[in-house]
Amino acid sequence: MRPHRIAVLPGDGIGPEVVGEALRVLRAAAPSLVYEEFSVGAGEYLRSGDPLPPGVLDRLRQFDAILLGAMGLPGVRWPNGLEMTPQLDLRERLDLYCGLRPVYLFHPLDSPLRDRAAGSIDLLVVRESTEGLFSARLRPPDPASGCVEDILRITRAGAERVIRAAFRQALRRRKKLTLVDKANVLPSMAFFRQVFLEIAEEFPQVTAECLYVDAAALFLVLQPERFDVIVTENMFGDILSDLAAGLVGGMGMAPSADIGERHAVFQPAHGSAPDIAGQGFADPVAAILSAAMMLDWLGENGAADKIRQAVRRALRQRTVRTPDLGGRCRTTAMTDAILAELK
Ligand code: ATP
Repeated sequence: MRPHRIAVLPGDGIGPEVVGEALRVLRAAAPSLVYEEFSVGAGEYLRSGDPLPPGVLDRLRQFDAILLGAMGLPGVRWPNGLEMTPQLDLRERLDLYCGLRPVYLFHPLDSPLRDRAAGSIDLLVVRESTEGLFSARLRPPDPASGCVEDILRITRAGAERVIRAAFRQALRRRKKLTLVDKANVLPSMAFFRQVFLEIAEEFPQVTAECLYVDAAALFLVLQPERFDVIVTENMFGDILSDLAAGLVGGMGMAPSADIGERHAVFQPAHGSAPDIAGQGFADPVAAILSAAMMLDWLGENGAADKIRQAVRRALRQRTVRTPDLGGRCRTTAMTDAILAELK
């Protein structure tokens, strides 16, 4: 069998720092993978005038998976003031409709809920990633008209495919799926719920419930243990997955995958974190766990499990933590501790 080919997009800010650590772990856990690196992001825009050159996008389609660091820098913007977000372009151009954001608490002391959280936070946010409230983001606004609108777009096909994907995820876990919407106020969300309830009939083994987004935010903090899999639209998923990441130690602990029918991108859920870039203290765990998700997707589940076990064992030692978790480890030392557990 030919080795899997991985496109590596380190990107901006702490992206190259954490991707470098993920590659160290991948080389140890799955030595047969082959890598090729591409320049994409705000840095590439400054070099070539395009954060995602068309030639690069075509090349990326030929790889088995894409491993991405983080993209965008606050000081590098389009003339209309918006930041460069080639990671969003990738989701839309490669039709990566299913955003998977697992949220798992490795150690209760890393949670702001501490005493109540032992063993209780293990959930998966499935974020629709090609439509929803992000769908109109590239439409040119006309501020001179005195009104700028963003449309929350839900199509039946778009809703069906992400909801089915979420039910399939629930089947592999604790068999509970929560739809998060705003069906009491927004017609698009009432439609989303209608599609959800239709598809729920295909999955009688899964307990399906519906929750308004405001209540979901409350319950995530008060009773995170009640959630197994959550499925929601693009913007709600963006917000709630950061909130959930906060419950398990912050963005440095939150991996993610954006998956379509043919392509998939794996990246830490965090951004380029310019406030800590270049200091050598970024938490590499989110990137390393994203690499494990990539191995799962490639069918190398044994290697993926080994990485997660190594992270779990390393984090049992209180001194093995970067400053975001209250520790003093540098990025490389954190990875060294994980590599030691891998061997
Ligand atoms: P984006 O909009 O691109 O998602 P953001 O502006 O929401 O990005 P992040 O770049 O994710 O923000 O950073 C949010 C906060 O989390 C910052 O204080 C940042 O330093 C911190 N942070 C993010 N990633 C890490 C990491 N890997 N290790 C430590 N701290 C991190």
